Amino acid sequence: MTQSTDTTVPVPVEADWDRAPSVLEGAKTLELTPERCGLPYWFEHVASGMLGRLADGTVTSEPPTAAVTEPGPLRDALLAEFSFRHLAEEKAARALSFLVFHAPDTACLEFFSTQLVDEARHARAFRDHLLRLGVPAAELAATVEKAAGAASAAVLDPLEEFGLRVLRDNGDFYGGVLVLTVLVEGVLAPAAELSERKWRPLDPAAALVERGANMDEIRHLAVGSAVVRRHLTERPEENARLLEIIQEGRRLWAGLPMVDLLFTRESLFQQGLAEHAELIGDYEIWPGRRLVDTGVQERMEAADRWSRETQDQRLEYMLLGEAVDPT
Ligand code: FE
Ligand code: FE
Repeated sequence: MTQSTDTTVPVPVEADWDRAPSVLEGAKTLELTPERCGLPYWFEHVASGMLGRLADGTVTSEPPTAAVTEPGPLRDALLAEFSFRHLAEEKAARALSFLVFHAPDTACLEFFSTQLVDEARHARAFRDHLLRLGVPAAELAATVEKAAGAASAAVLDPLEEFGLRVLRDNGDFYGGVLVLTVLVEGVLAPAAELSERKWRPLDPAAALVERGANMDEIRHLAVGSAVVRRHLTERPEENARLLEIIQEGRRLWAGLPMVDLLFTRESLFQQGLAEHAELIGDYEIWPGRRLVDTGVQERMEAADRWSRETQDQRLEYMLLGEAVDPT
């Protein structure tokens, strides 16, 4: 087993490139607190550990294949997806500034400062990958706008507005943590897990970007839900108010064209899948299921199921089990 540094402090499993669980597993099993994941943890295990191993070349990947560097449906699908992620991560970083501002104690101030930097890093990692795909630097902003501007306006803007109403307008720290953990990370992290798995044979470097971001998301999900759980343990009278925020957020999500967006993206991927089956071979997207045999609906259903499971599990843990969707 590889250790990232020579320090006597063992690398925690969730920050170890070789051992970290998937988002789905990690989101279900890990318990992390803001006290544990403060600045010393972040500098040692994230900055020097995880990122250090990327920088020193002990964690590497093969470059993108021609299936995504040449014009075609796979390239379009990847440009759309990574442009969208870039915009989503930037919005998350900006929103986090309000969590830092309203943090009730030092542990939360430190943890959410690290999360703010994580999201800014993710925004950069997704953008940098567009450059690796051959998008000229001078055309980056225009490419992002063309590939994901409309999707961002349709899905991310309303979500951001909702989050900012809770955080900026109401100054509601715990409501904000809840929105971010369940409605943003809880939805996006399982989609990112699908992305990591489906791009791996076609663009291993893209899968590595997702993997790195996903390792951070495990920590964000785990700590965010620990913060809400502790708050509700100490202040059970807050339960009804936080439940109402979740329900309002879910009504909002239900009205957003996320399914259409995913359908368009997966349909492009499907076209490319047929064209480049030889590159993918017998690669399995999950145990026993070859990627080349999957269809649009099947992949969308998997992401939807994972998203429900992740959200429900986090809500139970946060003592908000009443919000678990019975369907
Ligand atoms: Fe992120
Ligand atoms: Fe995150």
